[in-house]
Amino acid sequence: MSISAQNVTKRFGDFVALDNVSVECPAGELVALLGPSGSGKTTLLRVIAGLEVPDAGTVLFRDDDITRRSAGDRNVGFVFQHYALFRHMTVFENVAFGLRVRKWPEQQVRERVRELLQLVRLEEKAQQYPANLSGGQKQRIALIRALAPEPKVLLLDEPFGALDAKVRAELRDWLRRFHDEVGVTSIFVTHDQEEAFDVSDRVVVLNQGRIEQEGTPIEVFEHPKNEFVMDFLGNVNKLPVRVEGGRALLGETGSVELPAKLFGSNENGRTDAYIRPHELDISRTADGGNCMLGKVVHVNPAGSVVKVRLLAEDFGLMINVDITPERHRTLALKQNELVYVTP
Ligand code: ATP
Repeated sequence: MSISAQNVTKRFGDFVALDNVSVECPAGELVALLGPSGSGKTTLLRVIAGLEVPDAGTVLFRDDDITRRSAGDRNVGFVFQHYALFRHMTVFENVAFGLRVRKWPEQQVRERVRELLQLVRLEEKAQQYPANLSGGQKQRIALIRALAPEPKVLLLDEPFGALDAKVRAELRDWLRRFHDEVGVTSIFVTHDQEEAFDVSDRVVVLNQGRIEQEGTPIEVFEHPKNEFVMDFLGNVNKLPVRVEGGRALLGETGSVELPAKLFGSNENGRTDAYIRPHELDISRTADGGNCMLGKVVHVNPAGSVVKVRLLAEDFGLMINVDITPERHRTLALKQNELVYVTP
């Protein structure tokens, strides 16, 4: 079932938490609401869930206007950052809870709970209490508890926020596969751009109660619409340049031309150019001359790319460059040595 929030405004007193926001989530898709703290992500999710009434705007589930319908009548599953499992109930009873409230027959409750526990591979925990589960296991139970009554819509508010990086990454992959299997239309709140890009079909970037950009992860990552989105996505070098004849030149003498994405330009042609670490390279020779000297400050070889941090002393700038492990082996960079950074 598709979800559509149209021109939603929500105020708390004088404060505008959502300012004329519209979001579409097509049936069966997973949409991430991404933004810094206080940007309005949770408020938007709560409006969609029916936990907040908007001051203006409409929420549609398929063609149904449900703006004034209570949360209980929306058939929505909700998962919070903190597991919110009932501590005094076994895992089985936690998952069964929503079904019992809806007065499902006992036989069906048992079948449904067993099926869901199998889906998250936690059948053997059925009779345990939440205290005996790890954080990741608790969150998987919270997820199937929300899904048990077969909601049409699943809303997740920073569901992995309280977990450590490794478990978080595992659950992220798992959520994506799980979502594809179950096919429930889902909206996911996160302030972690990597998480949003990894998991979702579409990303909506929020800032101060407004939408800055929305699109597929590739669209947003490759074509950030403005400075805010570029900055927020992180992992980018922000370099002060002069703009001359459409070219971005670094430094007073303009010795290095950058093929960078530019945003704005003030009167005397000065602005910030944004260039991602993988768009730069490192070399031991000044091939062609369009390069800058950089002193190696730090090399982090962990992961599928090698992250190198350099100080371009001529410009007084720290620069991040990503290179492949093969290139790293060839270059054999050492701390404090001088190399050339080429755009
Ligand atoms: P976070 O990642 O920190 O949870 P968020 O993007 O989810 O942030 P919201 O929780 O939607 O942001 O909050 C948006 C703004 O609205 C914040 O400035 C918050 O203080 C304010 N706000 C949210 N709920 C209320 C409320 N019930 N009363 C007053 N202000 C509120």
